[in-house]
Amino acid sequence: MKFCSTNDKSLRCTAREAVVQGLAPDGGLFVPVEIPVLPKALLDVLPSLTYPEIAVAVLAPYFEDDLPRSDLRQIAEYAFSFLVPLRRIDGATAVLELFHGPTCAFKDFGARFLARLLGYWTEGASREITVLVATSGDTGSAVAQGFADVPGTRVVVLYPSGKVSRVQEQQMTTLGGNITALEVRGTFDDCQSLVKRAFVDPEVAAALQLTSANSINIARLLPQVAYYFWAQSRFGDSPEPPAIIVPSGNFGNVSGALIAKRMGLELGSIIAAVNRNDTVPEFLRTGVYTPKVSVATLSNAMDVGDPNNMARLRHFFGDEAPPLARELSSRSCTDEQTLDTMARVFRDHGYLVDPHTAVGLWALGEERQARPGLPGVVLGTADPAKFSETVIRATGVVPETPAQLLACLDRPKRAIPMSLRYQEFSDFLLSLV
Ligand SMILES: *Cc1c(COP(=O)(O)O)cnc(C)c1O
Repeated sequence: MKFCSTNDKSLRCTAREAVVQGLAPDGGLFVPVEIPVLPKALLDVLPSLTYPEIAVAVLAPYFEDDLPRSDLRQIAEYAFSFLVPLRRIDGATAVLELFHGPTCAFKDFGARFLARLLGYWTEGASREITVLVATSGDTGSAVAQGFADVPGTRVVVLYPSGKVSRVQEQQMTTLGGNITALEVRGTFDDCQSLVKRAFVDPEVAAALQLTSANSINIARLLPQVAYYFWAQSRFGDSPEPPAIIVPSGNFGNVSGALIAKRMGLELGSIIAAVNRNDTVPEFLRTGVYTPKVSVATLSNAMDVGDPNNMARLRHFFGDEAPPLARELSSRSCTDEQTLDTMARVFRDHGYLVDPHTAVGLWALGEERQARPGLPGVVLGTADPAKFSETVIRATGVVPETPAQLLACLDRPKRAIPMSLRYQEFSDFLLSLV
C-alpha cells in the first residue's frame, strides 16, 4: 500500500514514510492511494473477534509492506488495551463509548497507536524522534500520555497558559521523563505558529528529527476506522444498519467512518453532528465552502471553523458538494440544545453524557423527526467527568471522576514558561540535542 499527498496525487511513499513525516513535503495531508476492500468472509466473522483483532484486520492492508502482522498485532494489543463498550441507552440507540483510555477521550486511540508505531520504527535508530505538538487541551494530553516512556521518542507539548482545563494541564505536565510541557503565554494559535515555524527552520531540522502528532498524521486517522467495524459487529440484529452519528470538529472521525464504508462495511447514514461551527453543513447545503473563524461553544473540542480533514474529504469526493452529500449529512446545534439534550438523556435514561456526545444525540433526535425509530450509534467522544461543570449545569449531577483522571491530579506540575518569541522556542529545541 502506497500513500500520496492531497496536493500532489502523483507523489508516492510508504506507510512508514507517511507516518514518520506526518505532513507531506508539499504541505498536503497523506492519504492511502486506494482504499482496500475487506473480503466478505472476514466481515462475516467480525462478531467473533476481539477489539484488537478487528483493529489488526482493518489496519493490516495499510501497513503490510512496512510492518509484519505479528508486530502490528502487538502494537494494537498495547494501544487498544482498554474497554470499548457499545452502551444501549434504549432499544434503537447506542453510544459507542470511546473514552475509557488514559485521557478519557477518543483521541487516545490515534495517539497511542501513533506513539507505539513511531517507537517501533525508530527503535535502534541513532537519533531520537522529537514530536512537536501544539494543543488546545485534548490532543496534547492524549499525545503526552500515549508517548510516555516510549523508547526513542521525545515529546514537546505547547499549550496556551490558563486556557486548558486543570485535568488537561495535569495530564500534560506531570509525566516527566520523555515528555516536556511548554506553557506558552498566548493562545492555541500562537502555539501552532511556533510549531509550524520550527518545522521549516533549517537549523532545527538539521539538529533534530522532528515529526508532528497533530491529528493530520495518517496513523492517528486509520485507527479511527476500526471502531466502526467494532460497533457494527456488536450492534446486534436490526431491521436496517444503524445510522452513525459523529460529533465533529476537524472531521477526523467522520473521515474514518467514510473510509470504513469504502472498505466494505455496511453502515447506515453517516451524520456529522457539529456545534455552532457549521462550516461543513453550510457547504453541504449551499455547495460553497466558506471557512470561518471558530466560535467558542460548550463542546469546545469541536470549535473548528475550517476542519483540517476537509483536504482529505476533497481528495476522496472532489471539490463539489454533491458527491460528499450523497454519503454524509450534517446538522448543527446550539449550546442551549446541547444542554437540553444532556438533561433529557439523563432524565429519560439515567445516562450522563459530555457536551460533545450530546451534540451527537441531539442530531440523532433531529434525524428521527423524519425517520421515526431509526436505529443509531452515537460516538461517545469524552467522559462526562472531563466536562463536569457543564454536566452539573445541565443535570445537577456531579459525574464520577474515573481513576485514571484522579491519578494525575496530585502529582506536581512541571512546565517551562515560554514567551511568543520564536528565538526562545528554537533555543529550547536546540538545547535538547
Ligand atoms: C477532538 C474531539 C472531537 C472532534 O473530533 P474530530 O475527529 O476532530 O472531528 C469531538 N469530541 C471530543 C471530546 C474531542 O476531543
